[in-house]
Amino acid sequence: MSTAAVPTVWALSRPVRDGLRCLHCFLPLDDERVPVGIARGYWGAHDLSVTVYAHPDCPSTPTG
Ligand SMILES: [Zn+2]
Repeated sequence: MSTAAVPTVWALSRPVRDGLRCLHCFLPLDDERVPVGIARGYWGAHDLSVTVYAHPDCPSTPTG
């Protein structure tokens, strides 16, 4: 699984960062969500990197 397409945490909107919305289509996620990678971000010494999620069959998924 490549993380090349995952932006930094600073480029994400809060719902995406919180795993509430799809990284690709930005629609709300449910229990069917799948991790698509880790968005990296650092605030001073704090590692704010988070796992971001998408729909398992999201039509906007580049690999789909
Ligand atoms: Zn989606």
